[in-house]
Amino acid sequence: MKSDFTYDLLIIGGGISASVFASKYLKNNLTKKVALIEIGRGLGGRSSTRISKRFKGWKLNHGSPNLNITNNNNNLLLKSYIDELIDNKFIKIDDSDVFFLNEYSNLEIKKKSEFSCGVNYLSLDTMSELSKKIIESNNLKGKIDFFFETLIVDMKFNNEEWLLTSKNGDKFKSKYLICSTNLLLHKRSLKILNVNQIPLRKAIPINNDKKIDLLLNFLEEQTFIPRLTFLIYTNENYSYKDYYSKKQRYFYLKNNLEKKYRFERIIFQLQDNNKLGIVIHSKNIELINSYISAKDEEVFKQKIITNFNKLFEENPVVNKLTFDEKVSIMKWRASQPSGIAVPLSLQFSRKYRIGFCGDWFEGDGFGRIEGSILSALILEKKLKT
Ligand SMILES: Cc1cc2nc3c(=O)[nH]c(=O)nc-3n(C[C@H](O)[C@H](O)[C@H](O)COP(=O)(O)OP(=O)(O)OC[C@H]3O[C@@H](n4cnc5c(N)ncnc54)[C@H](O)[C@@H]3O)c2cc1C
Repeated sequence: MKSDFTYDLLIIGGGISASVFASKYLKNNLTKKVALIEIGRGLGGRSSTRISKRFKGWKLNHGSPNLNITNNNNNLLLKSYIDELIDNKFIKIDDSDVFFLNEYSNLEIKKKSEFSCGVNYLSLDTMSELSKKIIESNNLKGKIDFFFETLIVDMKFNNEEWLLTSKNGDKFKSKYLICSTNLLLHKRSLKILNVNQIPLRKAIPINNDKKIDLLLNFLEEQTFIPRLTFLIYTNENYSYKDYYSKKQRYFYLKNNLEKKYRFERIIFQLQDNNKLGIVIHSKNIELINSYISAKDEEVFKQKIITNFNKLFEENPVVNKLTFDEKVSIMKWRASQPSGIAVPLSLQFSRKYRIGFCGDWFEGDGFGRIEGSILSALILEKKLKT
């Protein structure tokens, strides 16, 4: 039998923006009943951690490995929230090695990339745990219900109330709705959810709310960067050539090298059991296409290892991999929004009691965790006034 659930406020998505929003909302609305609905198995979204069932004991951050805050506009809300995360010992300054590899030298240490500019912070635990701690710090009364592995496919606004339906037929009702993902607002939903109209457009037909119409128009123009991440569970004895012992170590490939090797960055992640995990990111379309069309995934993985070994051939700190390392691959259809960002003025419709947050809003943090956090903080304030 399918279930019916009723709440004061529902949040779709369980990434970092949803977690920050939920945390602030729970703190300021002690009596409200809140639920968070997420298709994944846990919190974190694109900044989450793969805890492998196959490879026991490994925890690899397979989306964003850390967070970098530029706060170019000196936003006090963002500043004090980052301070709060530091005071709570959820994050700390990331003083890991950051190398920019180029054709001539392998050891150029300059912090110059969209993912390393500003101040870099590391989660004291895994990235998934960061989202979890953020919510739990203000969930003292256990006021939030979590529905994981639950995909919302339909939304309706009837009689001043939101009604969401999940793929398996569960119904969720609420007075307020927060979308921390734009999947249900974007044309990519048609294919992914197998629906014939963008769910939000279906819920709020054109010419009913200027803000919603504008928001959907902006999203028409928003595109997404696909990415592959290769997770390498290295063999027992794999280690660095030197005695580096910090939790993470980053290698960014500069333009020509990125083209040549088709890797964007490589992050070494020291595990609790002292094994060394490696996560390789790529947004190279040829590599992504060759993965999609690969007939034999094992052969494809061997090519990745060959590439890695060539790249680090003469590197003073990185050892070569052997061909029997275990590799798993994650394909991110929409790893990062690109092109047009949505203005923050369209974040909340009072008429329809619906709010939006995430990295798809305008600002320095567009396409990054910084944007997700800031938009969530601003949205929570908008809901109050
Ligand atoms: C490989 C990779 C590397 C990255 N590196 C960096 C980096 O170094 N620095 C940085 O700042 N940023 C980085 N990013 C971007 C960063 O991860 C994102 O900006 C940030 O995590 C977005 O958080 P969010 O909460 O806005 O969205 P998300 O994390 O996407 O959260 C939305 C959640 O909603 C869920 N969801 C969607 N639709 C539905 C539905 N219909 N029903 C139920 N649940 C649904 C999704 O499963 C998801 O968990 C990276 C991203 C990727 C993928």
